[in-house]
Amino acid sequence: MGIPTDRRPPRVLLVEDEAGLADSVKYSLESEGFEVTVTATGVDGLESARAGGVDLVILDLMLPEMSGLDVCRQIRAFSDVPIIMLTAKDSEADKVAGLELGADDYMTKPFSMRELIARVRAHLRRSTRGGVLGDSNEVLRGGPIELDIDAHETRVNGREVSLRPKEFDLLESLMRRKNRLAARHTLIDEVWGSSYFGDTKTLDVHIKRLREKLEDDSSNPRHIVTVRGLGYKFVDE
Ligand code: CA
Repeated sequence: MGIPTDRRPPRVLLVEDEAGLADSVKYSLESEGFEVTVTATGVDGLESARAGGVDLVILDLMLPEMSGLDVCRQIRAFSDVPIIMLTAKDSEADKVAGLELGADDYMTKPFSMRELIARVRAHLRRSTRGGVLGDSNEVLRGGPIELDIDAHETRVNGREVSLRPKEFDLLESLMRRKNRLAARHTLIDEVWGSSYFGDTKTLDVHIKRLREKLEDDSSNPRHIVTVRGLGYKFVDE
């Protein structure tokens, strides 16, 4: 699996204060052709992210001074760059908080480098795909919701709603199966990639965010409905 040679190497920003772990992640990514910038504090990480040219961020949650959650929130204020969080084994609350703040994924320490690299690749594939303009001008419609695939725009009753890349991909997967079951594993494959081994709670958090942005009453959704035990369904009414 090579990286396209007609482009600069993908640049990964790693924010991690554990020097040993940072070194081994940097080494593994560099040997796969990525360019890696490491910062040991959230403040420096944020500064690197602001400087631009970063294609993906790997962000440790437990950082001195400014926490990873704060870094994540602040990056999301100016960028949609994919963010993979690194969390300690039993910090369930942190994972959910991180996803709600806009992280795309998380990995629990200790993790395998192979898995990390697979996820980095999957997130980069997804985030560049949206940037390629086609000429089909495809628009998916369901109820008051419109998804303009090429313009990468979402509208509810004609009003534009801002979705993050993963939210957009998830809504697209749901709307392509309008009024049919979208199984959990199908959604995870399509949105996060078949190499995704993470907690499926990630899916539920993204569904929750979509409902908050698209539904009149997100606690009583009419369009993005749960099919208990199986997945979700986009209902066109
Ligand atoms: Ca740490």
